[in-house]
This record gives sequence, structure tokens and C-alpha cells, in this order.
Amino acid sequence: MTEAQAKLIAAAEQVLGAKGVITDPREIAPWVSDWRGRVHGASPAILAPASTDEVAAIVRLAAEHRVPLVPQGGNTGMAAGATPAADGSGIVLSLRRMNRIRAISADSRLAVAEAGVVLETLHRAADDIGMRFPLTLGARGSCTIGGLASTNAGGTQVLKFGTMRALVAGVEAVLPDGSVHSGLTGLKKDNRGYSLDQLLIGAEGTLGVVAAVALRLVPAVAGRAVAWAGVESPMRALDLLRFLEARTGSVEGFELVPEDSLQLVLKHVPGTRAPLSSTRPWHVLIEATTAQPGTDVAAELEGLLGAALDQGIIADAVLAASEVQAEAFWKIRDSISEAERVEGQTLAHDISVAVGDMPRFLVEAAAAVEQRFPGVIASGFGHLGDGNIHFHVRAASHAAPDWYEREGAAITRFVDDLVTAAGGSISAEHGIGQLKLAEFERLAPPGRLHALRAIKQALDPLGIMNPGKLVP
Ligand SMILES: Cc1cc2nc3c(=O)[nH]c(=O)nc-3n(C[C@H](O)[C@H](O)[C@H](O)COP(=O)(O)OP(=O)(O)OC[C@H]3O[C@@H](n4cnc5c(N)ncnc54)[C@H](O)[C@@H]3O)c2cc1C
Repeated sequence: MTEAQAKLIAAAEQVLGAKGVITDPREIAPWVSDWRGRVHGASPAILAPASTDEVAAIVRLAAEHRVPLVPQGGNTGMAAGATPAADGSGIVLSLRRMNRIRAISADSRLAVAEAGVVLETLHRAADDIGMRFPLTLGARGSCTIGGLASTNAGGTQVLKFGTMRALVAGVEAVLPDGSVHSGLTGLKKDNRGYSLDQLLIGAEGTLGVVAAVALRLVPAVAGRAVAWAGVESPMRALDLLRFLEARTGSVEGFELVPEDSLQLVLKHVPGTRAPLSSTRPWHVLIEATTAQPGTDVAAELEGLLGAALDQGIIADAVLAASEVQAEAFWKIRDSISEAERVEGQTLAHDISVAVGDMPRFLVEAAAAVEQRFPGVIASGFGHLGDGNIHFHVRAASHAAPDWYEREGAAITRFVDDLVTAAGGSISAEHGIGQLKLAEFERLAPPGRLHALRAIKQALDPLGIMNPGKLVP
């Protein structure tokens, strides 16, 4: 621990009390590695403020002592953005004690949640007042509102409701000089220049600490239908989406699953069963919902899938007959990464290209990767309707245990080059963090890099907010 860190921790104890300062290495350990367990950092303490004023006091102390802070929520991020540097130069600032829902109202259709509120807790609170916060994802039991805003998270319902950018009505944040930006007014119109709220969304903790967020709610779901369809190609899957979108506004989830991923889930995840009796090369999980009581969304989806079958867009389909079966279909989708992990070494790429280009890109990129790196299996699954696929490359069955370390960087460069040549993004929803920093620097257009660096320098001239993340 440096002298500056020791001074900061002692001063923080005065502000936060014993509850807000963790120095026991056993308690710190789970919070200094990333969710995938690939990046390991160090921090002499975890500081855990319980109010915006306490956050501001800690940020001012960090500026005074020139000690970097690493904001952290649930530590479920996929780019190691919340993992401190390995040299222990930073200190983790946990927002998990800031876990109050300050206000929630069906009339205003808004909830104001502190940064440490867990997503699932917000879901329940909205449900209790007959409303819904429509963003959801696999880590909902542990990821926090502050982390979701700071990574501009997406998830499985983006098709209808957008990413966090669309769902955040305002942000309260502590800026790197310790001043508080109060954006929780819920104003629908506010044209006083640059939107600080939007700047903080997706900033990965590099421009300030998100303390609370005003979130847009929508009416609760009155009915939902979940279906599984078999298709011959990703092109046909996109045809199906367009076919449905032209006829109904109820589709909010549309997830592509290759047969290979389905087989891995069936092999490794107990209790899972193939939804269709026939084998198809590609599959789509469809969720349709309505907020109108009395609307038979299941009958509508069944009718539309029947018409798609008649027109040869899909090869087979089944509608979940119960909530249990609907959940079983979603479990398959949500278990793909877990099944891959059990199967062996996998390289994950969270990429996007224009929606209409994704089917062809996916097929051609997978073929190119398999040709260039013989033995690997490349494929993609996920949010086809958003042009966002989790493009994963699995090691050959005979690969060496250090395949990931030896081959990973070369394969990722190859994939990222293909994505960039297609006009796409090497990070669709997971952010840059530290894992994608070098590739971001290599491939980002100069204008984007210049603007990012200039904003960072202007707001955080001392470099105390999550250095080494997002901004190369
Ligand atoms: C099983 C699983 C499924 C997932 N599925 C999806 C998915 O479908 N779509 C998707 O977009 N993401 C997905 N994710 C990743 C997703 O980004 C995170 O779950 C979530 O957004 C991060 O929340 P967190 O509280 O865990 O943040 P953390 O991991 O703690 O932090 C993430 C980043 O935000 C910063 N940060 C955290 N809190 C604050 C704050 N209060 N102020 C400023 N900065 C802060 C951190 O410094 C870090 O840079 C998934 C993750 C898992 C484990």
C-alpha cells in the first residue's frame, strides 16, 4: 500500500465509518477478479459509501491524494472494467451499499434507483405497482443499476425497448472534482447543451461515479407467448423477424441459436430438452408480449408462425404450451455460455454490424475463421434483431490447455478485422473495459479516439476515475 493510499483509507474511515471500509484481504478477494475469472487485479481496500454525499467526499479525497478509484457494482461486466489494476494502484469503490429505490410511480412512469440496486430488485418493485422495467439479462440477480447504466447494457428485449440509453431519464453522478451532477428531474425536454446524462451512460466509470438513475417504466405484461422455430439459415431467421414485424408490434425478443449451441446445452445442462422433434441447422427463440388485457398474443403468434411455415420461411415451430415450457426455452438460450465453458476453451466476441448485413456476415465470418485457424469451431448466437451476435470461437477438441493464451489474440484480431471491414463494432453491448482496450486503439477511427481522449482529459484531468479502462 502506498503512503497516499494509506492516507486516503484513513480519511475514508472518518467519512464512512468502519462499515464502509473493507481491508480484510479475504473479503476483498472476490471483487478484484473479473466475472470470467480471466483478469486478476489488486486493491488494498474496498470503499463502500452509503450516500451521494459520501461518494462525493471520497472522490474529493481521491483527487487530493491522487489515488485512482475503480467504481464497481455487481462485478458482472464482461470487459473487466470493474477489475482494478494488478499493481494495486487503484482502490475499488463499491456502490453496493447504495441500494435504495428512492421513488417509484406508475403515474410518472419513473423509478429513481440508487446505483447499487440489483436489477431483479427493481423488476420486483415495478411489478408491485403494475409496471415493468423492461431491460433484462442473464446477470439480473447480481448486476446493478449503476453498472448497467455505466456499460449502456442491452440484453434480450432491446428490439422493442432499446438499451439503457433509451431507458434512462436522468442520472445523478459525482464528477471527478467531487461536484454533483443532479439530472434526476425527469424533464422530458431539456436543451441546455451537451447531455451529461448521456455522456455518463456507457462511460464505464471513467467520467464520474453514477450515484442514482431515473428509469423509464412501461406497463406490466398482460400476456406473453414464447415460441421456438427451426430455420435453414440466419438469412431465413431475419426474414422471419421482418415477416413478424410487418404484421405485429408484439415481438420483443428474437434470439438466434445455432444447432451446435443447442447440442452443447443439451449435453451439459441437466434437465434441458430439444424444443423441436426435427433437427434444424439454426433456431430462433421468439418472445411476444402485450400490455393489453384480453389480447390473445399466443393465438396471434401461432397464426403468424403458421403463415411463415406455409411460405417456407421457417421449417418447423412450436409454441410453448405453459409458462414452465416458456422458461425452459429461455433456459436453453441463457445456458449457452455456461455449456460452452464446460465443453472447453472458448473465445467470446460481442460484435455488431448493420442488422440487414448480420446473417451473411455471420456465415462468412465463421467460414473464414475456420479456414484460417483449422480445427476451431466458429459460430454465433444472440440478438439478431439488433445486429448483435455473440461470435464465439471454440478450441478444437485436441487443443492444448494454453490454446486461449497462445491463439486467442491472433483469432480476436482476425475477427475484429472482419467486423471493422464490415463497418461494425467490436463491442456491441459489453463495453471496452480493459479487455478490448488494445483492439479499440488499433481499430477505432482517429476522430472517435480524439474526442474520447479530449472529453476524458477535460473532465478528469488528474486521471483518478478508472484509469486504464475504455480510453486508450
Ligand atoms: C451471465 C451474464 C449475462 C450477461 N448478459 C448481458 C447482456 O445480455 N447484455 C449486456 O449488455 N450485458 C450483459 N452482461 C454484462 C453486463 O454488462 C453486466 O451484467 C452489467 O451491465 C454490469 O453491471 P454490474 O453492476 O455488474 O457492473 P460492474 O461489472 O461492477 O461494472 C461494469 C462497469 O461499470 C462501471 N461501474 C459500475 N458501477 C458504476 C457506477 N455506479 N458508477 C460509475 N461506473 C460504474 C465499472 O467501473 C465497470 O467499468 C452479462 C453478464 C453476465 C455475467
